[in-house]
Amino acid sequence: MSYIIDTHCDTLALLNKNNFLCGSSNMNLSLPRLIRGDVKLQCFAVCVHPDSNGKCFYDGMKLINEYDKLTSNTHMLMSIKNKGDIKELLASDKIGAMLTVEGGDMLEGNKDNFDILFEKGMRMFSPTWNNSNCLCGGIGENSDGLTDFGKEILLRCEEKGVIIDVSHISEKGFWDTAELASKPFIASHSNAKSVCSNKRNLDNKQLEAIKAHSGCVGVNFYPPFLNNSGKASTDDIIRHIEYIASYIGIEYVSIGSDFDGVENDLPKGMEHPGKLQNLCERLRKLNYSESDIDLVCHGNMLRIMNCVLK
Ligand SMILES: [Zn+2]
Repeated sequence: MSYIIDTHCDTLALLNKNNFLCGSSNMNLSLPRLIRGDVKLQCFAVCVHPDSNGKCFYDGMKLINEYDKLTSNTHMLMSIKNKGDIKELLASDKIGAMLTVEGGDMLEGNKDNFDILFEKGMRMFSPTWNNSNCLCGGIGENSDGLTDFGKEILLRCEEKGVIIDVSHISEKGFWDTAELASKPFIASHSNAKSVCSNKRNLDNKQLEAIKAHSGCVGVNFYPPFLNNSGKASTDDIIRHIEYIASYIGIEYVSIGSDFDGVENDLPKGMEHPGKLQNLCERLRKLNYSESDIDLVCHGNMLRIMNCVLK
């Protein structure tokens, strides 16, 4: 077993009173499955789509209330906000939860809203989902880079100890971020374009830039990002891990499942977090050392969290 840090799931929008504790057929993620998969830290994304009729902040705060209820009412969970929390987590038998924001639409162009999100515990931030907004162009429209407001917010991320996440942003936005960032940044749930040609995946130059910043790519389990056949298995996830590890080094690849954000079938053998240890078994069979498996499962993200968080 090698414990797991998963940098992306979309479970918050599906939560209700009991389904996290007991599991539910309409959810990939639940506490029993996190325990079975040996997940030690799960990032929970707040994703508010731009068609929210001008109430992105309000809608996002509703999801953050769900996160607050989840972390304060679940004895096994611990909200992670700083390096001290990580140290405490690793010495405990608890599971860490980290609040992340996917898409800066929630800021509604107001820097004060960023500070409110920070106070609520947000420790990872992506400027946009696939759309273009007041911070940056998104990969769905793929035109503009970071705006002045976007740059200001990303600098604020580094100043406050929030990890910058480049999954979903436009190519120009990626390169603007690479130029601006002085700390490691990550793609929390993206794959390698050389293995699967999809606009959401990263090309070799982008992988090199992530390495140059000591960042990381969290490999995504969404089948269309894994291969172009419409069906995927655990081996496809391994293929992306192996490619990224061989191209830029095993120190720069991690896990960003996208559980509960995937509307079609998840890869065979990786239907929910309870199966995450299948990845370790496959890597072991491929003769990866235990220390390299640890890097992919948690070590690389621990390095980045300990570098960026305060
Ligand atoms: Zn996403």
